[in-house]
Amino acid sequence: MRNDIKEILFTTEQIEDKAAQLAKQLEVDYQDKKPILLGLLKGSIPFIGDLMKHMNIPIQIEFMDVSSYHGGTTSSGQVKILKDLDISVENRHIIIVEDIVDTGFTLTKVIALLKHRGAASVEVVTMLDKPEGRIVEMEPKYIGFTIPKAFVVGYGLDYDEYYRNLPYVGILKEEVYMK
Ligand code: 5GP
Repeated sequence: MRNDIKEILFTTEQIEDKAAQLAKQLEVDYQDKKPILLGLLKGSIPFIGDLMKHMNIPIQIEFMDVSSYHGGTTSSGQVKILKDLDISVENRHIIIVEDIVDTGFTLTKVIALLKHRGAASVEVVTMLDKPEGRIVEMEPKYIGFTIPKAFVVGYGLDYDEYYRNLPYVGILKEEVYMK
C-alpha cells in the first residue's frame, strides 16, 4: 500500500497527539453536558477511538452512515443515509466526529437533520479540513489539521473501501485512481 502513497502528511503520533488535544478541549466545553459523540462511518472510526479515550467526562458513542462519494474521488452532492441513529437526540448535545470536511454537503445535511430532530446543540470535530473544496458554507468548530485540495487516504479514509487501515494520512498517487 505504501507504494500507492505520494506523500505522508500526518503520522500516527501527530494524529494521536492532535486527538488528545482536541479531546481535552471537548472535555472542558462539555463538562456537564453528557454529550453524544456521533461518528460518521466508516472513516471516523480510528479518530473517534483516539478522541474518546482522552475524554474523561460522561459521553455516549453513536454512529451514522451517510454517503456522498459512491466510490470515486469527488463528492456527488447527493447525501444518502445508509444507517440512521438508533436513539433519540432530543435535547441532547451532539458532537459529530468526522474524518474530513470537503464540500460540506455531508455535514450540512446531517446537522440539519439532527437540529430538526430537536438536538440541544450540534458541533463538529473533524480530523482534517479541506477548506478549498467547500461548496456550501460549513465551519467545523474543532479541527485537527487543515490540508490543501488533494485526495488523501489512511487513518480511516478510503479509496474504493481500501487504505482505511493505513496508520497515517497520505496523498494517494493520481495514477491509482486514474487507472
Ligand atoms: P463532503 O460532503 O464535505 O464533500 O465530504 C465529506 C466526506 O467525503 C468525508 O467524510 C469522506 O468520506 C469523503 N472525502 C472528502 N475528501 C476526501 C479525501 O480527500 N479522501 C477521502 N478518502 N475521502 C474524502
